Amino acid sequence: MKLKVYNTQYDHKEVYFFTVDEFHYYEGVETSVKWAKPHELAIRTEDSVGLRIIQRKNIREIDGRPYEYIEAGVQKAIERIIAGSRGAKYHVRVGGEGSSCTCPGFTFRGKCKHVDLLEQELNHA
Ligand SMILES: [Zn+2]
Repeated sequence: MKLKVYNTQYDHKEVYFFTVDEFHYYEGVETSVKWAKPHELAIRTEDSVGLRIIQRKNIREIDGRPYEYIEAGVQKAIERIIAGSRGAKYHVRVGGEGSSCTCPGFTFRGKCKHVDLLEQELNHA
């Protein structure tokens, strides 16, 4: 496989005394490495480095085709201020790292209609 990989040094290219290229190009065979994380890609190359672990988010192309890595675990979440029945305003949040609401119902029971409402909205979004 041929990879076009964004060079993160390019973000701060002015601090290097050498010229920083925007992309690295690698050619090799995809390989599985036990300790590689899901957001990393391991390739075995013919050069002196041999094995490279590449952050998938930096990959721009694989074999000439555009590539975009969506990080798993990053879930959509929504947050809203909802007015309660007695005029109080509650800060409601669902999705992502868990649901929460500042109303007494959620505080005591861990669930409430505000969270239910927003969850419905999230699931239909
Ligand atoms: Zn609530």
